[in-house]
Amino acid sequence: MTKKILKGVFCLAAVLCLCFGLLNPIIASAGTMEDYQAAQEKLDQINKEIAALKTQKEKQEAEKKNAQTQIDLVKKQIEILTGDISRTNDDLLAKQEELEQKKEDIQQTDELFKERLKAMYIMRSGGSLSTVLAVDSFSEFLTAADTLQRISVADTELLQLLEEQKKAIEEEEARIQDRLNNLVEKQGEMESKQAELASLMKTLDSSLSETEARQQAASETQKEVYQEYLRAKEAVEAEFGEGSTGDFVGGEWIWPVPTNGHISSPFGWRTLYGVPDNHIGIDIATGSGPYIFNQPIVASNSGTVKTAIHSNKGYGNYLIIDHGGNNFTLYGHCNSLAVGVGDYVTQGQTIAYVGSTGNSTGPHLHFEIRLNGTPVDPAPLVASTRP
Ligand SMILES: [Zn+2]
Repeated sequence: MTKKILKGVFCLAAVLCLCFGLLNPIIASAGTMEDYQAAQEKLDQINKEIAALKTQKEKQEAEKKNAQTQIDLVKKQIEILTGDISRTNDDLLAKQEELEQKKEDIQQTDELFKERLKAMYIMRSGGSLSTVLAVDSFSEFLTAADTLQRISVADTELLQLLEEQKKAIEEEEARIQDRLNNLVEKQGEMESKQAELASLMKTLDSSLSETEARQQAASETQKEVYQEYLRAKEAVEAEFGEGSTGDFVGGEWIWPVPTNGHISSPFGWRTLYGVPDNHIGIDIATGSGPYIFNQPIVASNSGTVKTAIHSNKGYGNYLIIDHGGNNFTLYGHCNSLAVGVGDYVTQGQTIAYVGSTGNSTGPHLHFEIRLNGTPVDPAPLVASTRP
């Protein structure tokens, strides 16, 4: 077992002890019903934790699957974009070539026209040749209104057409460049998305590993808690299951604290230390404010003292009386006990005194009646003798 698992077990045990207000060690001690219940609670708790971890793992696996789907999708989109970019680049290069070609055409035509114009000039006016040669292009030359008339309409139209074609190619080139920029931008976005997803995946992987480690630790704890539960169960069975002697003594049950009739906590589910707790008896508190100790506790029915425990945990000092027929009464948190194991006691006989020993916050009697081994609500059974 690793250190981490040991630590997990210790933490869980600490939490359970706090939750149930028990100071008992992890291993169940003397066979009390309380230890058995505590073990049951612990087992429930660890089973709940295991179920929660299972749900968490499933959720994390689903998240991973979802992230993987997105990663695949982004990868595919990047592939498509890369293809698009490559094709658009080719288009752009082709367009640039076309443009270069067109520029060359214009240049050649321009030069040709210049030659022709030179000839025309010399022929028609004998003017200065240097004026014509000084201009850079024929296009510039055209702007001079006085020379425009000297050139044929067909020549002008051809040059204009070439210029228009050049402009169209330039516009198309700009559109392709825009498209390319767009695609590259999108590719950049997709690549950051890809990086984000990769980082998310890393986080999810580590969360999942953590959950798996916790599952492993919880499973180890479960094994130990289950063993503890089995031991506590065996102890309870040894204490309550087999020891009953003879037939039920019969008769009615009587209220066990003749001087006090106050039930401070009834039988059944209640909240104890902020957690649900099944209270398998009733608490008879012997006063509010300054607590009153040592009021006599009497046997609810006749029988033989089966258990007399002196303890500072759980039920504290307590007695179990066997009334035959697998019927028992239990008297917990006593200040002192007046009888011992094997004593036969008669109904109404003083058997102990009220205290606050064990897991108790003030003087009270914790009283249980178990019919055929099962705890039942004592309140209605002893109601007629309640003071
Ligand atoms: Zn109680």
